[in-house]
This record gives sequence, C-alpha cells and structure tokens, in this order.
Amino acid sequence: MPPAIPEKVTVTANPTPTVGVLALQGDVREHVRVLEDSGARTLTVRRPDELERADGLVIPGGESTTMWRLARSFDMLEPLRKRVEAGMPVYGSCAGMIMLADTILDGVDGQETVGGLAMTVRRNAFGRQVDSFEADVRIDGFADPFHAVFIRAPWVESVGEAVDVLGRVETGPAAGRIVAVRQGQLLATSFHPELTGDARVHRFFVDMVKGLS
Ligand code: GLN
Repeated sequence: MPPAIPEKVTVTANPTPTVGVLALQGDVREHVRVLEDSGARTLTVRRPDELERADGLVIPGGESTTMWRLARSFDMLEPLRKRVEAGMPVYGSCAGMIMLADTILDGVDGQETVGGLAMTVRRNAFGRQVDSFEADVRIDGFADPFHAVFIRAPWVESVGEAVDVLGRVETGPAAGRIVAVRQGQLLATSFHPELTGDARVHRFFVDMVKGLS
C-alpha cells in the first residue's frame, strides 16, 4: 500500500530553515530569541563549519571594528564572503549592516567588511548628540510603521542601482537618510529590531531564507 497522501500539501523550499547568528561579538541572544519565535531553527556561528550548517545568517549589532578583527582572527572573513557570493540570505543589523557594506566611511584604519551590498555606509553617522534614539520608520511592504531603535547607528550614504531602499528616517535633522535596504538575498537595517518586540523584520528575513520572499 502506498502511503496516504494528505489532501493539502504546502510545499516550500525549506519550511524550517536553520538560521545562524554570527556570534563573534554583539547582541546574539536577542536575535536567537526572535528568530526562534519567527519559525526558524537557530545556530550560533563562530567557525567555518558552523557557517556551513546555516541556511541563512544574521549579523548582529555590536561594534563592527571588533567584529571585523575577530572575523579575521577566526578565519571567518573569506568563508563569509564565499557564502554571500553563493547567494546565502544574510540580514545585518547596525554593525551587521556595516559588515555587509561594500564601502564604509569613518571606519578605523584598515577596517574590512564582508561586503556584498552595493552601498556606502557611514559609521556612527547620527552624531554624538543623538547617539541613540528611537523613531517610527515606514518600511516598504509593512502595513504599519516600525518603531526603530538606533544605537550609535550607521546610515546608508549612497546605494548602487541593484539596491532597493526599504526605509528612510522621516523627521529631524537626519530626515531622508536611508536606514533599511535589500539587494537580492541581503537585507540590512541601521536599527535593532531584536530589541523592540516587533518580529516583522525577522519574520520577513526568515521568509527570505525559506525562499518565500
Ligand atoms: N557604531 C557601531 C559600529 O561601528 C555599531 C553600533 C551598533 O551595532 N549598535 O560598529
């Protein structure tokens, strides 16, 4: 007897993907929690063999100079670049956005990135007076504005043609500055959605890893 076929089968590329969180430095645990609430299995990634097991990757916020130095000493830069080139979905938040940028401004001497997103990102762009602030940002594809928390955040100074701008600061001295982008399988935000209890960015990213968006 052949096995009974259920009446309705939903076929997706990968219904329960394993999403890695780069765990060299930064707010790893917060991302793990939101990703698990968003339907992903999670894995902390410090070594190339762990990266191999991930279907997608989150690069958290933290300090991009430290993350870069650790990625270099853990021999992770090249493996990360290779997976990005091979089309792995990656979401970078804040320092993670810096890590995904092809070009950075106000980096430290010699600071390298993983790259992949055709954009120029300025570190600590919002200035000392407004080191940290919160603002509602409209994100393309989200019905309601996203309450965004910025902590010594970068902004996107300019983007290449292949990059979709998903959100900008709307008010204040930085109005118009780009803070959310997507290029193919790479997603980045200047802000920290893992801190606000709003899982829409993570759910969107998990859908990207599932091959649904
Ligand atoms: N200013 C940090 C950097 O340059 C980023 C801050 C953050 O991730 N919250 O890496």
